Amino acid sequence: MALVNEHFLKLPGNYLFADVARKVSAFKSAHKNVNVISLGTGDVTQPLAPAVVEALHKAADEMGRAETFRGYGPEQGYQFLREAIIKNDYLPRGIHLDINEVFINDGAKSDTGNIQELIRWDNSIGVTDPIYPVYLDSNSMIGRSGVKDAHDRWSNVVYFPCTAENNFVPEIPNRRVDVVYLCYPNNPTGTVISKEELRKWVNYALHNDALIFYDAAYEAYIQDPDIPHSIYEIRGARKCAIEFRSYSKTAGFTGVRCGYTIVPEEVSAATLEGKRIELNPLWLRRQCTKFNGTSYLSQRAAEAIYTPEGKEQVRKTIAYYMQNAELMLKRFRTLGYEVYGGANAPYVWMKTPHGIPSWRFFDEMLNRAHVVCTPGAGFGPSGEGYARFTAFGTHEQTEEALKRIERWF
Ligand SMILES: *Cc1c(COP(=O)(O)O)cnc(C)c1O
Repeated sequence: MALVNEHFLKLPGNYLFADVARKVSAFKSAHKNVNVISLGTGDVTQPLAPAVVEALHKAADEMGRAETFRGYGPEQGYQFLREAIIKNDYLPRGIHLDINEVFINDGAKSDTGNIQELIRWDNSIGVTDPIYPVYLDSNSMIGRSGVKDAHDRWSNVVYFPCTAENNFVPEIPNRRVDVVYLCYPNNPTGTVISKEELRKWVNYALHNDALIFYDAAYEAYIQDPDIPHSIYEIRGARKCAIEFRSYSKTAGFTGVRCGYTIVPEEVSAATLEGKRIELNPLWLRRQCTKFNGTSYLSQRAAEAIYTPEGKEQVRKTIAYYMQNAELMLKRFRTLGYEVYGGANAPYVWMKTPHGIPSWRFFDEMLNRAHVVCTPGAGFGPSGEGYARFTAFGTHEQTEEALKRIERWF
C-alpha cells in the first residue's frame, strides 16, 4: 500500500487566491452583465518593456539557428545574467558577491518554497504575520509547521504580529527561533523595514545562530532612499541570510518566469554534532538534482532589464503602478478609511471599517461595489480585519474602482 504524505491534509483546502477566484466567478455567473474590477491578485497588467521584447525576439532567432542554438544551460544560470545582477543590483550598494553565490531560478515562489529542504524537519520557524502564504504552506507540506489550531495558527510556528497597533514593526522574539522568514517591502501590508530594524533581526540571527530567509521581491518599488533594498546592506548578514529576488513585479515577468536567489558562501547551519555545514554547496547540489535551469529566453529577457533603455522603461512602469498606489492612499484617506503601505510597495493595506471581518468586507465590496480586494485574514491571523488592494491595475481600472467604492461608501 502506498502511503500518502498526510501533511498535505493539514493544509487549508485551497490556496488563498483560488478561494477568491471561486467567489468572483460565482458572482460573475450570477450577474452576467456586471463588470467586476479586480484589485485582488498580485498580477501585473502592463506589457513587457520594449527592450525585453527585443531581447526575446533575438534569443528566439538564436534558438532557430544551428550555430547559436542552446540546449540545457548551467543549472545556476548563465554567466551573463549572474554578472549583470552583481554589477547592477549589488555593487552600487557596496555589496560584493561572488558569481557562485547567485542562483538564477524560474521565479521566487519556487525557491522561497524549496529553500526549506536545506534545513532539518524539526527546526522551529518564525514568520511575520500576516504573510505571503508560500513560506508556511511549503513548511507544512513536510510537517515542519505542526498542526493548525482553532485560531488558524500552526502549532510549531512562532508568529510576529504586524498590525496598526505596533505600526507594522515586528517585535524581535524573546525566545529562540531557528529560521525566520522576512519579506520587505512586505506583501501583503505594503510596509517596509528600516535599516535600524533590519539590523536588529540580523543581530538576533547572529546571536541565536538562526537563519533569515529574506524575500525582496518588491525591492524595485522602494522610493525612500533610506530604506534597505538588500539584507546584505546590513553588516553580518552574509553569515546568516539567504535573499530572494524576482523579475515578476520588477519587470512584469509573471508570465515570462525568472528570478534569483543569493546564497552567500559564509551562510552555514549545524549538524546535530555541532559541525558547521555551508549551505551554498548544498543548494547547488539540490538545484543540480531537481532543477534544469531557467530558459535561455527568459534569462536573455532579464539581462535586457539592465541595459540603459531597459532600466528606464522598467522605471516608468513602476512609476505608473506607484501612481495608482498614491491615488488609492489619497482617496481612501479622504473617505475616512485607515490605510497603510503603498508608499514603497505596490500594495495598500486597509483596516476594514468598524472592524468587520475581512471576508465579510470582501463579500460586501464584491456584491455592492463590484470591486475585488484580497481579504487580509487569508494572509494569517493578524490579517483579520484588513484588506489588501493592489496597485497593479491600469489607471482607468483603479480610477473606476475608487469611484465605485466611493459611491458604495
Ligand atoms: C509575487 C511574489 C513573489 C514572486 O513570485 P514569482 O514566482 O517570482 O513570480 C515572491 N514573493 C512574494 C512575497 C511575492 O508577492
